[in-house]
Amino acid sequence: AGKLDIEAIRKQFPILHQQVNGRDLVYLDNAATSQKPLVVIDALIDYYKSYNANIHRGIHTLAEKATKAYEETRHTAQRFINAKSEQEIIFTRGVTEGINLVASSYGRAFIKEGDEIIISGLEHHSNIVPWQLVCEEKKAKLQVIPVSPEGELDLDTFKKILSGKTKIVAINHASNSLGTINPVKEVIKLAHEVGAVVLIDGAQAGAHLEIDVQDMDCDFYCLSAHKMYGPTGTGILYGKKELLEKMPPYHGGGEMIKEVTFEKTTYNDLPYKFEAGTPNIADVVAYKYAFDFINELGRENIAAHEHELLTYATERVSKLKSVKLVGTAKNKVGVLAFTVEGIHHFDIGQMLDARGIAVRTGHHCTQPLMTCYGIEGTVRASFAVYNTKKEVDQLVEGLERVINFMK
Ligand code: PMP
Repeated sequence: AGKLDIEAIRKQFPILHQQVNGRDLVYLDNAATSQKPLVVIDALIDYYKSYNANIHRGIHTLAEKATKAYEETRHTAQRFINAKSEQEIIFTRGVTEGINLVASSYGRAFIKEGDEIIISGLEHHSNIVPWQLVCEEKKAKLQVIPVSPEGELDLDTFKKILSGKTKIVAINHASNSLGTINPVKEVIKLAHEVGAVVLIDGAQAGAHLEIDVQDMDCDFYCLSAHKMYGPTGTGILYGKKELLEKMPPYHGGGEMIKEVTFEKTTYNDLPYKFEAGTPNIADVVAYKYAFDFINELGRENIAAHEHELLTYATERVSKLKSVKLVGTAKNKVGVLAFTVEGIHHFDIGQMLDARGIAVRTGHHCTQPLMTCYGIEGTVRASFAVYNTKKEVDQLVEGLERVINFMK
């Protein structure tokens, strides 16, 4: 048995304790978004009830309190990913905005005609489309690291397509569709040898893996709070200070300036240069409690528990009639994707929902990856720290019923 008291953890998530379609909810859609513990929900309520105010410019007590709480999250985030400085932590709306910020700002300033940007076949649309936009605008070329049948990156091909023309490499830390944990450190090292900068999409890593941006030596790293027990609508972009310093602003507006005249505006220091306008204060404030929640449980313990669930689920689901697992990489976060021969993933999702079981079906915003496997979509069960073996059993039982009914 693991080191965590899962029943005690479950008590902190009020949403889990309800019936859906007459059955106890089994929430296995954590890769889409995780549920929020009471500490996060209470932090949101407390902020709006007792110290809602605009930050940074205010001199009154509530503004100071709100500013302090907002900056406290930045400090917590810095330590969570081991960034060198708080100036390297920029609040965003989430991973999507973090990638768009880098693609727009860094891409516009430093990508030229004939340059190359490398992504991988495992990427979420949000780590594909922003780079396509830059490539189109700059007449640069988008290259793709192929994926093996198991769902692992083909590093030999990566080494072949890397060249002096490569300016950016952008891959995820863990795949939302298959769960594959990518060898980011190796990819970063290889990319740096040709002088490229590397962005890591950490959407599926934040709640599951240790993240040390200095050890990894990535240039940019993105997180979404909502995938790691925090609120929707916020996340962070980490960037190395020397890169952020030379990048032009992303959005213009209040807060990101030092001085504005009609002739010339000077920009604020990092990180404020990239935080134009009134930010999502409440959600940022509550994000700290999500970091704390993960820290208190310990990422190693969380990963061990989820790994146990994944191993158990993989073993049981793979034995079911007509089931084919999609993505069987050696190193995976708690994502189990599969198809069932002769039954559309949509129907499976709906029939599981009728039994109170929430899974995701479809292409999971990774259409090119699905195309690569020659499928339209999968059924995906994804685990969080509050899931149990009993819930895996309920999933398996539900799947057995669906398969027997449909066949
Ligand atoms: N990348 C990956 C790997 C993801 O799983 C997701 C969310 N499904 C995103 C990017 C986008 O994150 P967000 O919607 O929070 O911006």
